[in-house]
Amino acid sequence: MTPSRTKEVIIIGAGLSGLACALELIKNGVSVQLLEQADAPGGRVRTDEVEGFLLDRGFQVYLDAYPNAGQLLDLAALNLKSFEPGAIIFEKGKRHRLMDVFRRPLSVFTSAFSPIGNIIDKALVAKLRFSLQFSSVEEIQQREDLSTEIYLKQFGFSDAMINHFFRSFYGGIFLENELRTSSRMFEFTFKMFTEGSATLPARGMEEIPRQLAARLPDGTLRCNTIVSEINAHEVTLSTGEKLSSDQLVLAVPSDAAQKLLPSLDLTIMKWRSVTNCYFAAPDSPLNEAIIALSGDPDSLINNVSVPSDLSSQYAPEGQSLVSVSILGLHDEPDFLSKVLSELTKWYGDQVTSWRHLRTDRIERALPEQTPATKPPAERAGGIYLCSDQHTTSSIEGAIISGQQTAKRILKQRSTGSV
Ligand SMILES: Cc1cc2nc3c(=O)[nH]c(=O)nc-3n(C[C@H](O)[C@H](O)[C@H](O)COP(=O)(O)OP(=O)(O)OC[C@H]3O[C@@H](n4cnc5c(N)ncnc54)[C@H](O)[C@@H]3O)c2cc1C
Repeated sequence: MTPSRTKEVIIIGAGLSGLACALELIKNGVSVQLLEQADAPGGRVRTDEVEGFLLDRGFQVYLDAYPNAGQLLDLAALNLKSFEPGAIIFEKGKRHRLMDVFRRPLSVFTSAFSPIGNIIDKALVAKLRFSLQFSSVEEIQQREDLSTEIYLKQFGFSDAMINHFFRSFYGGIFLENELRTSSRMFEFTFKMFTEGSATLPARGMEEIPRQLAARLPDGTLRCNTIVSEINAHEVTLSTGEKLSSDQLVLAVPSDAAQKLLPSLDLTIMKWRSVTNCYFAAPDSPLNEAIIALSGDPDSLINNVSVPSDLSSQYAPEGQSLVSVSILGLHDEPDFLSKVLSELTKWYGDQVTSWRHLRTDRIERALPEQTPATKPPAERAGGIYLCSDQHTTSSIEGAIISGQQTAKRILKQRSTGSV
């Protein structure tokens, strides 16, 4: 079959990196064909409507201090709903509150006297907050790279603060609680959390890619389109159809890229996985927009939140949506009963009235980013590569990677260099 050449650049993958890359190229007058194997754009940021509930595929939040994403997105149109800056921590059957006292000054007493961390820990949080306020995201990426655990110890935090707060809070962000993730990623997320809020779009996380995809000219995005083979200028779809272009971008994680480029030796990164259970509840167990964490190291549950406490659109009228995240992949037969029994310790008998809606097992959730992790090549065999693996494993990182790739292509097109 002779390849048809319709657009100047073909991008494979309509996750956030592919969408950001496409928009940057189109803004600069380059025509783009975006190919996506799934039924809709968004990649790892998708939301399903089930019985009137909005179920994000895995609990995730948009940090409204993200600088690049904030410029690209119309945040007002997303109608972001914020979590309270802090957390409720369940530890040994007790409930403690740890708030960001700079943003919730009235919580200074509850937070200062909470047994999570000593007074020195609380002063160190303030020190870290101020030191990162004066560091740009770019500067953070150049800093010495340690594991987050070593970094926190060197910063002076007590073992209790590390074990009962950081392991749990950052465990939910990094999807691992050994805190082996890069300290650059820790500093980046800590800065974002203290400079803004963790939020959810009122109609679910998928509103983010939906908003970006809506800006694409008609005919740019083809969903349900699996690319099965590529070379420098040509792609073959699973249907046998061939398309060609001047440049190709693989906006997919490196294991998916390796499958399409078997002759190249791309860095394959490890994945972190998470299991997320959703329950319909007659009443919210939290009754406020806050994340609840487990402070017990042997607990199965990492965090609980009630998205419908932030936005009523997450649940049908008169019901609440409870989201429960558990690190790793779980499909053992008694998994759900173990989760429910732990939830009962946290919230008592009301849990018996909860109805299980769905469990998502997300194997490829976040790429491992330890100090030893090398990002994949930005170009291989003449093909451009982008994804969150090239920057930080986050919405912001995926958008930056897509935009940077577009800028490289624009440079190549303007200089004519290969
Ligand atoms: C459970 C979970 C929690 C998270 N929590 C947060 C959070 O709280 N805050 C935050 O900022 N980030 C969070 N993230 C990370 C964030 O969602 C990702 O970093 C980002 O979405 C990655 O975008 P991407 O474009 O790099 O990759 P992807 O989203 O993986 O996009 C790749 C796309 O390529 C497509 N594709 C692959 N192969 C082919 C092929 N052969 N043909 C056609 N299409 C193909 C895929 O279908 C996919 O749509 C979380 C992610 C998960 C899963």
